[in-house]
Amino acid sequence: MKKIQMVDLKGQYENIKETVNASIQEVLDTNTYINGQQVHTFQKNLEDYLGVKHVIPCANGTDALQIAMMGLGLKPGDEVITADFTFAATVEVIALLQLTPVLVDVEEDTMNISLDAIKKAITPKTKAIVPVHLFGRAANMEAIMDLANEHNLYVIEDNAQAIGADCTFSDGSKKKAGTIGHVASTSFFPSKNLGCYGDGGAIFTNDDELAHIIRGIVNHGMYIRYHHDVVGVNSRLDSVQAAVLNAKLPKLDEYNKARQEAARKYSEALGSHENIIAPKVEDINDGHVFHQYTLRIIGADRDGLMQHLLDKGIPCAIYYPIPLHLQKAYLDVRYMEALFPITNRLVQEVISLPMHTELDDEQIKFITDAVLEFLNK
Ligand SMILES: *Cc1c(COP(=O)(O)O)cnc(C)c1O
Repeated sequence: MKKIQMVDLKGQYENIKETVNASIQEVLDTNTYINGQQVHTFQKNLEDYLGVKHVIPCANGTDALQIAMMGLGLKPGDEVITADFTFAATVEVIALLQLTPVLVDVEEDTMNISLDAIKKAITPKTKAIVPVHLFGRAANMEAIMDLANEHNLYVIEDNAQAIGADCTFSDGSKKKAGTIGHVASTSFFPSKNLGCYGDGGAIFTNDDELAHIIRGIVNHGMYIRYHHDVVGVNSRLDSVQAAVLNAKLPKLDEYNKARQEAARKYSEALGSHENIIAPKVEDINDGHVFHQYTLRIIGADRDGLMQHLLDKGIPCAIYYPIPLHLQKAYLDVRYMEALFPITNRLVQEVISLPMHTELDDEQIKFITDAVLEFLNK
């Protein structure tokens, strides 16, 4: 059996080596490392793939979130509601811009931001909601957009984990995650569903005026060369990374399908165990692209299971071990434990298994057997 990796970037590269190498070679031949043709091509290719009017590439997913918030003109003291159960980047940029983060609990079944919790957190100072499409599953964007429109709030989608996922609306129509809110951000960190070979990110919007503002912000606030109209940043996707992404974007749907297939096999083997809550087999469709495959372990020793898997050479991880409202940097007197019952439970129960595009049946069986062996002991 091949050694099991949490994310198998090498195995994936071996299968696309020629395309990726040729694409990178083009950059070396043309010597335009910044803002080269590859960056423009990638921008256009991703706009077409997502069905969004504007993609603005930038240096990473954290910058993308920050720049999206700068573009909307949010001001110090404005309250921004986001999920307590996510990676810290989301709340970090809110705090960095001196906006006021308001963390709220998530829903038990999807682990995404809770609509009820958002409703309770809205005040006259609230200016924006940041849903995170956690682990590859889109948040309930239809309801979130309705609520945001009712209260005149911006919606910024953190789509770092769900590129390619579909959101289905009640009329049956579908839109890609990241194309529904006023603006969205994504990350091309190597282990993300669409990863480059370094850092990368992008901002998406259908709003022409906002896209124009953001194109200036990523480039030192310049709209005309050496005229700085607003305070900006320097945040670029370089041509080599864009070349890698151009080679990989045509494979994204196939890659997401491979993740869904692996998830289906995991859930078939594990879903009926009394100590496990697994993603439901019937929920595994285009709406979930499994950036992570995450189990909840109920009434059994989650940390013991983790150690058992690691001892057998199976990588696994706890995403995320500490709720953001308990992180030193983001403590706030307004947060009471009673506001976060689901997140407080999830951090004790979750464990993420290896998930990538190269998992084979033998590896999946080895992993699921090891999980069952521990729980049935
Ligand atoms: C990875 C990630 C980010 C940040 O992306 P970087 O490219 O690493 O800056 C932001 N939000 C979420 C939810 C992420 O998973």
